[in-house]
Amino acid sequence: MSRVAFHLRPEAADFDPYVPGLSVDEVRERFGLSTVIKMASNENPLGISPLALAAVREHAGYSFRYAREGNPDIVAALAGHYGLPEDRFVPGNGSDEIIDLLLRVFPVPGLHNVVASRASFSMYRVLSRLCGVEFRAVPRRDDFSPDLPGLAAAADDETALLFVTAPDNPSGFCPPRADLESLAGSLPPSCILVLDEAYVDFCPEPGAQSFVPLLNDFDNVVVLRTFSKAYGLAGLRLGYGVMSPAQASVLHAVHMPFSVNTAAEAAGIAALRDRNFYEETRRVVAEGRARLSDELSSLGFIVYPSMANFLMFRPGAAHTKSAADIFEQLLARGVIIRRLKSYGLEDHLRVSVGTAEENRRFIGLVKEICA
Ligand SMILES: *Cc1c(COP(=O)(O)O)cnc(C)c1O
Repeated sequence: MSRVAFHLRPEAADFDPYVPGLSVDEVRERFGLSTVIKMASNENPLGISPLALAAVREHAGYSFRYAREGNPDIVAALAGHYGLPEDRFVPGNGSDEIIDLLLRVFPVPGLHNVVASRASFSMYRVLSRLCGVEFRAVPRRDDFSPDLPGLAAAADDETALLFVTAPDNPSGFCPPRADLESLAGSLPPSCILVLDEAYVDFCPEPGAQSFVPLLNDFDNVVVLRTFSKAYGLAGLRLGYGVMSPAQASVLHAVHMPFSVNTAAEAAGIAALRDRNFYEETRRVVAEGRARLSDELSSLGFIVYPSMANFLMFRPGAAHTKSAADIFEQLLARGVIIRRLKSYGLEDHLRVSVGTAEENRRFIGLVKEICA
């Protein structure tokens, strides 16, 4: 019998990991299917922007080079895009890297805490745990919206970070920006409000919802944005934080060098310029979301109002099939959606808005399964 001995931080033992959506290849192999549709991870239904694809191709030959430290090109592009100074932007290997940096830099393990709504995007909890930082999960209101006053009440002088996802994942609920302003104004002085805007592009008016234009007035707010969803670059890994220059300089100092690769940087710059792709994505998502919401409601599901590129829903009183049954039977027929068990929501499902064709196929199969 072999025995492997190693020291291990208690935070890493019996770790409850992030659970990703299933991949197309996994499901193909498991069920021997030729066509599999993935509507599980809120990826872009239109794929990658053609301009971004061309940029990746053009830069592929430079892959033997390290990226320039700090990725000044994407930083300059973002600064130009928002009309803000460059020293407010921190690019990362997905916005997940920025979440990781925030958790490793600001809270002191054993002393400070992190606050978020219960059943939030699990990276906040997973990374807090790994850092040995207390994670406070605040109950949501009955309609599943985040309880902003409840979140503020849970924050104390030892709260380093308070996360709000706007629009929310997994519910799609979007707290009005005015409410987020009140929240930012009501927090203890050392508490940073982290607004995760991964899905803000899918709001009717992203410019009126995003907190980025207000950052000059709020030094205690960090905004997270990503190229993974509306810009179609999930696999390349590119996200960023917008924050005060003082906060940004700490993150720049400690971050892993070259975490944003050269292809991602080039693709991000091109994707920012590709307004056609961005607007077409918004249009397809808004139409698909309305259609899916109507269809699921008329099939008797409880559907939560969403401003994101996905819908959370659960079987209604008349359904005999459970969320788990529906998930499994869709999977066996080649459609991957997301169970929300890992969010602690046993009865809930989440479906990403697909192309018109994918949405039709999904609804057709749900009808068949629930008939
Ligand atoms: C998808 C998602 C992210 C973005 O992740 P990346 O690391 O940028 O791919 C961040 N926050 C939430 C809530 C998400 O759903």
